[in-house]
Amino acid sequence: MRFETLSIHAGQGPDPAYGAVMPPIYQVSTFAFEGAGKPGVFDYSRSGNPTRQALETCLAALEGGTDGFVFGTGMAATATVLSLLNAGDHLVVHNDLYGGTYRIVSEVVAARGVQVSFIDMRDLDALDAALQENTRLLWTETPTNPLMNLLDLEAIAAIARNRNVTTLCDNTFLSPYYQNPLALGIDIVLHSTTKYINGHSDVIGGALIVKDPALAERIAFLQNTLGSCQAPFDCFLVLRGLKTLAVRMEAHNRNALALAAFLEEHPKISRVLHPGLESHPQHELARRQMRGYGGVFSFCVKGGAAAAFQMLDNVRLFTLAESLGGVESLIEHPWSMTHLSMPEEARRAAGITEDLIRISVGIEHLDDLREDLEQALA
Ligand SMILES: *Cc1c(COP(=O)(O)O)cnc(C)c1O
Repeated sequence: MRFETLSIHAGQGPDPAYGAVMPPIYQVSTFAFEGAGKPGVFDYSRSGNPTRQALETCLAALEGGTDGFVFGTGMAATATVLSLLNAGDHLVVHNDLYGGTYRIVSEVVAARGVQVSFIDMRDLDALDAALQENTRLLWTETPTNPLMNLLDLEAIAAIARNRNVTTLCDNTFLSPYYQNPLALGIDIVLHSTTKYINGHSDVIGGALIVKDPALAERIAFLQNTLGSCQAPFDCFLVLRGLKTLAVRMEAHNRNALALAAFLEEHPKISRVLHPGLESHPQHELARRQMRGYGGVFSFCVKGGAAAAFQMLDNVRLFTLAESLGGVESLIEHPWSMTHLSMPEEARRAAGITEDLIRISVGIEHLDDLREDLEQALA
């Protein structure tokens, strides 16, 4: 079955108890045994819960995996999968990652005795040279935030497979609707479901999806052992959001592409970073690897920090806030907000400048969004 159908039906038949058409919220900690030595399908909600299972099955289907696992936050998914690594193992990560991932890798995982290398994985030779005898995991994220740089997942997966290294892709920015890393040879997909998958800015959550039975068994063990799973009510909300992912992504994509084209022509804008524009240096890779571009992109305002701040203060419909992927449009200033924890030189070296603005385009009417940006720039 196709994506739109799977998002509504995978893992979600009528409930066996009363035939409820949508998965009920099994707000319960424990389940009665059928008899001595005879547990039912579920015994304790940390180990498994019917509402959670519906969401996990649906996400696995949408990413083309066999097993899905959901967590209380995106960072809980990250912490759980990083628990695959032990002291003496080597982790290779892309050098342009979500800030929270950078923080856990550099401040928590490294302190545990895991060796970490930060590599610009757009350079495949540098990546190949960075792999060692003890390299266990390779961590990618594409597109990156806020500069919208891309990584070639198929090429990276091939290099890693040659060396028996497990690969992971943080697929939060595109959602399974626009990019499926498992189909490109990646072993583990990670999502912050807080963003597009839930899509309504009212839940925090995370997910991992795999198709290798040994990895699935190990992650199930870690999810149960660490207790990082998502609560039934939040699973219900994410599952509800997931049902409209396809229609929402189409709307995000359409609005963002139109606004990117509008800004690229605007006299007060010096640069637009959107992989769907022909001016993007990796536009060819974008067309090969992704089916669409999502709703997030960045641009530079002429006139530096003062002009950028003026625009941020003048928007009326866009809300000045961090995060992304919700139905509502958000605007933010990476230099002073999401990327403030990066040292100034690191921000500058990466290309995050004071005149850079990131927007998460929602699914409001395009004309209202365009008019708001137009008046804010005027
Ligand atoms: C938000 C985000 C995360 C972390 O997820 P939380 O749900 O906030 O814990 C990880 N990766 C990316 C790309 C994100 O945008």
